[in-house]
Amino acid sequence: MALIVQKYGGTSVGSVDRIRNVARRVARFHREGHQVVVVVSAMAGETNRLLALAKELSANPDPRELDVVAATGEQVTIGLLAIALTEMGLKARSYTGGQVRVLTDNSYTKARILSIDEAPMRADLEAGTIVIVAGFQGVDADNNITTLGRGGSDTSAVALAAALRAAECQIYTDVDGVYTTDPRIVAEARRLDTVTFEEMLEMASLGSKVLQIRSVEFAGKYKVKLRVLSSFEEPDATSPGTLITYEEDETMEQAIISGIAFTRDEAKISLMGVEDRPGIAYAIVGPVADANIDVDMIVQNIGASGHTDFSFTVNRAEYQRALDVLGREKGRVFKAREIIGDNRICKVSVVGIGMRSHVGIASKMFKALADEGINIQMISTSEIKISVVIDEKYLELAVRVLHQVFELDKEPA
Ligand code: ADP
Ligand code: ASP
Ligand code: MG
Repeated sequence: MALIVQKYGGTSVGSVDRIRNVARRVARFHREGHQVVVVVSAMAGETNRLLALAKELSANPDPRELDVVAATGEQVTIGLLAIALTEMGLKARSYTGGQVRVLTDNSYTKARILSIDEAPMRADLEAGTIVIVAGFQGVDADNNITTLGRGGSDTSAVALAAALRAAECQIYTDVDGVYTTDPRIVAEARRLDTVTFEEMLEMASLGSKVLQIRSVEFAGKYKVKLRVLSSFEEPDATSPGTLITYEEDETMEQAIISGIAFTRDEAKISLMGVEDRPGIAYAIVGPVADANIDVDMIVQNIGASGHTDFSFTVNRAEYQRALDVLGREKGRVFKAREIIGDNRICKVSVVGIGMRSHVGIASKMFKALADEGINIQMISTSEIKISVVIDEKYLELAVRVLHQVFELDKEPA
């Protein structure tokens, strides 16, 4: 008998039939003698619908009220799942984030979990009750409702698993594990039996939305046993899904590249003809950071005759705001001949801990893109990833071609 946290995403609870199906799987684990805590997302499309309602009323809704609205999606599904389980003759009890005191900081729409009060859940579990908790939401120290950022139910689940010291945290979704790349883009993508924590962290941070990045960070910090599985299989099926591992298995031949991640949420800003002097990078990036906008890749050209060009990328949602900030500061804290922007770019990354010990990965990647006539606009590397910025219209082609040249459809030898 073990304590298990199961999380079901939006598509997995997208209709009453699907919720009934979730209830059947939960019931099975309960029948097998496990204590089960279930975390659910809002029904598919619901969070988008709620946010759109607020945007209809205001171009810039108060973030506190936005969270009040967005958090309601999950309240519906916890209640419905509890009703479905009760109907099956089981004891189940639903809780909002606030009710189990998922305490967060007060950064609305992207709050961070600080602590969880697991005592009421323990009492329920001891009494044989299935505990259902709303994902994505918490409360701050003043009891304001907060949300954890898009995809945040993953993080709710892992945080609960850490607080309850669960034997396993199972993330049920609409694919049966973590693939070499998004199986919706590349049909030949292959499910991975295991993926190392480091690789998963990179993949999530570089755009693979199968797990929210913060959930992976949390899992690493508390060494939560984390597995991604399909909710669409029969409730009695026992597929292995993908296990996130914390130790590199020395005996196993590591794949050089384990996956390809990508994101469309990118925009590039270039400042042409800025002065080439100490402090210029700070003069440009400082005001952007002060406006709470994350800067990702940065490229500065070699200076010529006292001037240089400086480019960086930001999240596409913050593109206009970043341009506005720079427009205000231009001529004040820095001089530039011209500021140009492009929000039709994307980022494609190859990830793998095996590339640490292999040379030639970058050249292979660049050649594959060149052979397709795809121009690379920016490059950034770390020990275990290489990312390129390219024109958005080549995204799918680039991902497919890279998947092919790195032979990700084949099991590593
Ligand atoms: P949920 O609603 O269950 O949280 P998400 O839509 O957030 O589900 O995440 C699952 C989706 O992530 C899949 O449907 C798939 O399209 C996408 N995805 C992106 N990269 C990967 C990957 N490497 N492996 C598996 N799925 C991926
Ligand atoms: N419902 C939230 C969202 O759509 C949280 C989640 O699904 O994880 O982002
Ligand atoms: Mg998700």
